[in-house]
This record gives sequence, C-alpha cells and structure tokens, in this order.
Amino acid sequence: MQKGSIKVQTENIFPIIKKFLYSDHEIFLRELISNAVDATQKLSTLASLGKYKDELGDLTIHVELDKAKRTLTVKDRGIGMNAEEIDKYINQIAFSSAEEFIKKYKGKSEADRNALIGHFGLGFYSSFMVSEKVEIISKTYRKSGANKAVRWECDGSPEYTMEESGRKERGTDVILHIHEESTEFLEEQQILEILRKYCKFLPVPIQFGMEKRYEKVEGEKDKDGNDKYETVEQPRIINNTHPLWTQKPSGLKDEDYRKFYTELYPLNFEEPLFHIHLNVDYPFNLTGILYFPRVRKNIDVQRDKIQLYCNQVFVTDSVEGIVPDFLTLLHGVIDSPDIPLNVSRSFLQSDSNVKKISSHIMKKVADKLEELFKGERTDFEKKWEDIKVFIQYGMISEPKFYERAEKFALFRNLDGKCFTFEEYRQYIEKIQKDKDGKLIYLYTTDPLDQHSFIESARNRGYDVLEMTGLLDNHFINTLEQKFENSQFVRVDADTVDKLIRKEDAAPSKLSEEDKKKLEPIFNRQVDEKQYRVVVEDLGEDDLPVLITQPEFMRRMKDMSRLGGHEMMGELPGFYNLVVNANHPLVSDILNEKDEGRQAEMARQVTDLARLAQNLLKGEELTRFIQRSVKFVGN
Ligand code: ADP
Repeated sequence: MQKGSIKVQTENIFPIIKKFLYSDHEIFLRELISNAVDATQKLSTLASLGKYKDELGDLTIHVELDKAKRTLTVKDRGIGMNAEEIDKYINQIAFSSAEEFIKKYKGKSEADRNALIGHFGLGFYSSFMVSEKVEIISKTYRKSGANKAVRWECDGSPEYTMEESGRKERGTDVILHIHEESTEFLEEQQILEILRKYCKFLPVPIQFGMEKRYEKVEGEKDKDGNDKYETVEQPRIINNTHPLWTQKPSGLKDEDYRKFYTELYPLNFEEPLFHIHLNVDYPFNLTGILYFPRVRKNIDVQRDKIQLYCNQVFVTDSVEGIVPDFLTLLHGVIDSPDIPLNVSRSFLQSDSNVKKISSHIMKKVADKLEELFKGERTDFEKKWEDIKVFIQYGMISEPKFYERAEKFALFRNLDGKCFTFEEYRQYIEKIQKDKDGKLIYLYTTDPLDQHSFIESARNRGYDVLEMTGLLDNHFINTLEQKFENSQFVRVDADTVDKLIRKEDAAPSKLSEEDKKKLEPIFNRQVDEKQYRVVVEDLGEDDLPVLITQPEFMRRMKDMSRLGGHEMMGELPGFYNLVVNANHPLVSDILNEKDEGRQAEMARQVTDLARLAQNLLKGEELTRFIQRSVKFVGN
C-alpha cells in the first residue's frame, strides 16, 4: 500500500471545500457524471480509431445509493485509470485545479461565487463537499503494461492511500461516503431530481434505480374479458442520449419539435407557436432549438427558461447576459462548447464570443420571422397578437433588431386590419395630417373608455390604431424616434378637428365675443388648477362639452405613475374642458338670464363630460346624480 500526502501549497483546501462552498452542493454529482461520460467517450473514440479492439459492451453509467452503508456510487465502463494516472490526474492535476478554484473563489462577491460554482465546478474534488471519505476503484482499459486495478481513498485530509485492487472489469467506481451533514444526498428523490436537472440529455445512458410501468400482457385477458396489465420493473434511464438539437433538421418533422418541447418543459401544456433550429459551426460552435411561446400579459412571470448546455451537460437556465434580454422570452435550448463557462457573469457580457453568439441568434430569429411573414402572411397575422410583445420588446431594446423587424412588424386598426409600417404610412398619408403637414397616427389604449372619441374620429373618416398591448406605450416612443415627421396621438388627446387639418371647417354659430363670455361660466364649474376651458367650433352632433387629455401631459403622467409617483394629475392644465360653441345647448346656457340656473346647466354638462372620462367620483358623483334626478323631474 502506498501512502501519500497531497501537496498543499497555500492552505488546506478541504475545510474550505466543506465549509465555504455551501451553496449549490448538488453540483458534485454533475461533476462526477461528466467525468464518467468523458471517460466513456474517450474509450469509444479509441475504439473507433482501432486502438481498442475488445467489445465495448454496455456503456451505461450507473448511479447507486446504499442507505445502510451511507454511500453514493458512480460507476462507468470507460477508459479507467492505473496507479500512475490516479497519481497524476487525481493527486496532482485535479487537486491543484481545485486549489486554483478556491483561490479565485475566495475574493469574490456572493453573486460571483454562485456564478462561478454554477458554471464551473471544482471537478472531482467537489465530492468532498458532501463526503467524509471518497474511494476510487479503477481499472484501465489497457491489456498490457501498467494495468493493475487500483483503489484510492481519501478522508478529506490531505492524506490519501493507494493500493492494488482485485477489480477485474474495465472502468471506474467513485464511492462517496456521505457526510452526516449531507444526509439529504442519500434520498432517492433528491438524487433523481439532481440527475434530471443536469443529466437529462447526456450522450451516454445513465441508470438510477428502477421504475415501474404498466404493460399489457399479450394474449391474456382478465376475468371480465378486458386486456390484462401487469406491473413490470425496469432499470430507470435518466437521459435521452440523442436530444433533438443534436440531430439534422432535415430529418425532423414539426411533430418531433412539439414532442421535444414537452420533454423540455413537462409541465407546460401550451403548444409553442413555432421553432428555430440553430446549427452553426463557424466562427463558433452552437446548436440549439428556440421556441416561440405565446407571450401575452405576464412577461415577468416566466416559468420556462432557455436552458444552456455545454456538450449536452446542463449548465444553467439563467441566460441573461448571454442572449439579448428580449430573447430570454423564448424557450428552448442552446448548446455550445464555446461559451466560456468558467467566468463570472459580468465578464460574460463583455466576452467577444458571447457577443457574436448573441448577435447570431438575433439574426436567426429575425430571419425566421421574416420568412414566416413573407411565406404565410395570413398565418403570421393570426399569430401576431401572440408574438407582438416579443417583437416590440426586441425593437425597443435592440436597434439592430429594429432594422430587421420594421419590415414585418404590424399595426392593427380597430377594424382588425393589419398593416406593415410602410403600408400604414401610405394609407393615412392622404387623410391624416396636421396643419404643419405632420402625419398623425391616431390610436386608442382602451376602445371602451375612449369610445366617444373613437366614434367621432371614425365619423370623420379617420383611422384609429389599437394600441392596447403591454408594451404599446413604450413602442410608440420608439416609433416616434424612428418615423420622420410623424406623431402618435391618442384619440382623446384633443378634438380631432384640432389634431387633423380640416378643409371644410364648420362656420361658427357664436361670435368671438360670445365665446369669451362662455369661458368664465364654465371655469367656475371646475378646479382651475386642473382644467383649462377652451371654446371650439365642433359639429352640432358632437357633445356640448367634452374633456381631452393632452398627449404630452398624459404621457408624463403615465411615466410618473410607472415610477411610483402619482402627482402629475395635480399639474395645472392637465385636462382640457372643450366647450362646443356650435351645440344648441351651449347657446341656451349662454342665453340663460337666471344666473343660478345658468351655473347649474353648465355644471350638469361639465359633469357629464367628466363622467364620460371616468373623472367623476365620490361626493361630486352623488351631487351629480341628485341633480340629474331633479332635471328629469323638471
Ligand atoms: P476535469 O474533469 O475538469 O479534468 P476532474 O478533477 O473532475 O477535472 O478530473 C481530473 C481528471 O481525472 C480527469 O481529467 C480525468 O483524467 C481523471 N478522471 C476523473 N474521473 C475519471 C473517471 N471516471 N474515469 C477516468 N478518468 C477520470
């Protein structure tokens, strides 16, 4: 038996591994299984090169729990190691890289530590996070030379022992004697969850425990003549060794992609809208499948995330910093050996490979959307409501994506008709300009609340866009910066006749002098700090009084509301109280001799206008109702 001591350069790393790396202990299993997979694949490679001539046999990796002995074992039938190799790879190299890792780890913030440990494990030595003793029993694949089986053991101090072992079979067993404080890793359910998280798509089969299945017994019936079923136990294989993204897209059907979606997100019952199969080998390596889910209301509550793999080993499902923010709304997998995983998140964002990857993904996504738009426009229009948030988010946040998407992004008007930006510009070019020739895009954020304004705009032959979406407000800001000589105006921002140049304005029924007289009558009915009274010549069919909210002020208010301040409503001149000089009732009010009666009439039509804008509340509403009852009586 050989006894030895691992050369400790800085300080004893074992207490550190045990005490300080308390977050994410579970990754030890990913590390051990990755090693087992590597060893297995190395053997397959040797075999394919003709350097290993024996039968490969079943290469399944086995994970075994023994609760009584308190052990967790990972067994592979890969290349194995002889004594010299264990000394080199485990005692020296693996140990010093673990030591290196600890050095890096110690100076880091909590967030960076988590990123570090999540993306890059300690390798073999991470098993000491959960074990009081670790054994390796290994036999190399070699037929001759130094090929004796070895048993290595280390109890978490720098001392280890190494001796010959009676093992006959090629391969390696790593046996963890689980520490008292880590008893959770002796629970079958716990191990199963970890395996399903990290190993679901590894390229070598992983078996853990048994699973029960109901199977039909051929040719037999029960006493009622029904098919007979029996429970059969079979080894439980954790992984799909050929996940869809590793296969050639040409051989795959839509159905395969839908099935794979369910495999990725077993709890999501909504079908994705469509998918993109990524396959790049120059200038970097990347494969993957991205799915477009339906995104409607809650973009923040996102259960399913893009999963990032490195050669089929699950790495993380927080891809922020790796792909542009808006792409994180997508689902699916990205697999790339070229994403540097051993670095912290802040570093990732500035990495040039990562930048290339993310702009490539963005380009592919834009290609796919454009292809759908060009190929099946009707279908694209049908899907629009579901993908709109995604596209708008991209256009708002990524100028490069905007350039691509402006060709296929859509507007929808209140008739439900869809237009591209260019189509819509041409459509309103002739009908909707203000007095300076600026193009006016009329929109509504709430077709019910803004109904009377919509009606009066449409009665005049103008078109109104539906902008009721989650991001429409932000989107409008982006569009105004991009569109030349154009403005977006909500239908109730002003009277349409003022917004849009009218050739045949109605002649006024009242003289300028009369109009002046109207102002104080109405001013007395409202809080002057909030309302500005304006007398305008509207149509006879329009309401006698209406309230508008100037676009700029309203947007400021929306913004302050987003920031959590509710103060803009108090600002002077927030609302316009528009008095229609051409309405007969307004003439009646003007001509009323009884001042009390005149004030009451003005008050009543003003309150009606406020009611229409949802601005009448509390005591004022009660008084209004009482007054109305009285008016009916009159
Ligand atoms: P890494 O896997 O990053 O190289 P590890 O510390 O996990 O670092 O492992 C160190 C080395 O030990 C591996 O590179 C490999 O040569 C050897 N090794 C570990 N596990 C096995 C195994 N199951 N079979 C064969 N060799 C192994």
